[in-house]
Order: sequence, then C-alpha cells, then structure tokens
Amino acid sequence: MSRPPIIAVDGPAAAGKGTLARRLAATLGLPYLDTGLLYRAVGRRVLDAGADPRDPAAAASAAQTLTAADTTRADLRGPDADRAASAVAAIPAVRAALLDFQRRFGAENGAVLDGRDIGTVVFPQADAKLFVTASPEVRARRRFLELQGRGQAAEYETVLAEIRARDEQDINRAVAPLKPAEDAKLLDTSELDAEAAFQAAMRLLGRG
Ligand code: C5P
Repeated sequence: MSRPPIIAVDGPAAAGKGTLARRLAATLGLPYLDTGLLYRAVGRRVLDAGADPRDPAAAASAAQTLTAADTTRADLRGPDADRAASAVAAIPAVRAALLDFQRRFGAENGAVLDGRDIGTVVFPQADAKLFVTASPEVRARRRFLELQGRGQAAEYETVLAEIRARDEQDINRAVAPLKPAEDAKLLDTSELDAEAAFQAAMRLLGRG
C-alpha cells in the first residue's frame, strides 16, 4: 500500500487556512495539525515566565520543553498570543525544536498541516501544497468579526494594523519566511466563503 499523503496548507494570518485544512483533513480521513498552535504555546510560556518573546534563550528553552498539554491551553488566541507567537517564530532555535515534532506527526499516518513553512521547510516533499491568501483588508475583516463573535472588544483599524505587522514579521524573517513553495497551488479566498474555498481547494488537489 502506498504511504498516506502529506498535504501542506500555508499562508498568512486569517486567510482561512485553518478552517480549510481542518475540513480537508476530515474529508480525506487524515490527522490534522495546526502548527501555529505550537508557536503560540511557546510564546505563551515565555510570557508566563515574565520573559520577552524576542529573547532567544528564553524562547528556545520554552520550545525545547514544550508538552502536548501546552498546546491545548485556552489562552492561545488573541492579540498578545499573536504577537508572542510571531516573535518566537523568528528565532532559529525555536523553529529547530518544533521541526521534529511536526515531522513525526505526519510520518506515520500522513496529515494535513497548516502553517507558514510546511511546504517549504517542514515537508518540502509533501504530496500536495496549497498556499492560501486573501487581501489584508479581507483577512482583517474576518478576524474582526471573529473577535466580535467571541465578545472581545476590537477595532477594525487596529486588527488590520496587527495583521499587517504580523505579515511583515513573518515574510521578512531570516529563517523559514512566509512564502509559497515553488510547487504550491495558490488559492486566493478574498472573494470566497468557507464552502467555496473548500470546493476550490478540492479541485486544486484533483479531488473535486
Ligand atoms: O497560524 P497562526 O496565526 O496561528 O500562527 C501564529 C504565528 O506562528 C504566525 O504569525 C507565525 O509567526 C508563526 N508560525 C510559523 N510557522 C508555522 C506556523 C505559525 O512561523 N508553520
């Protein structure tokens, strides 16, 4: 029997890749890993320790001692966690510590993984790669509505500024920057709802 597939779903914040990747995994009967949660959990541990998420030693130590339980905490979403995740994600020792975990997750049963560097660094040999984008304004609108839906106070302009700042940080970092793999299929969800994005992704994967 052939090896179960690895499907990489990369893209910037709030492009819709989490919703899409989770549904692809359920439909294709594959395990799903939200790799952003790993970086979020590392960032949160650094904040808990009273340290600066940009501090390489503090962040590396938090990544090296990360447990599965850390990734199920309830406080991994929201602006503080967003910023801390993006800061620790720029530190090479953090990325190195999380690489093995991600590769082991996909090794046995295949997987759909969403993140920033799955198709470029974690699984360059993935069977299929999607790069999911949308304009910053559309992504900010989605994130804004999501925060409102959770009863969290937010302003659209602030959310947009945070999205742009995180894009900037993720695109310009020296290690594993956010960019499409050369063989990734691009999916712009600016004009698509979740259902249309799923249908388009299935077509791009040759399963639609
Ligand atoms: O996807 P999510 O928004 O949860 O990711 C949080 C942060 O973690 C991103 O802004 C990015 O800096 C980092 N990240 C990463 N590589 C991944 C997944 C997330 O650098 N594979």
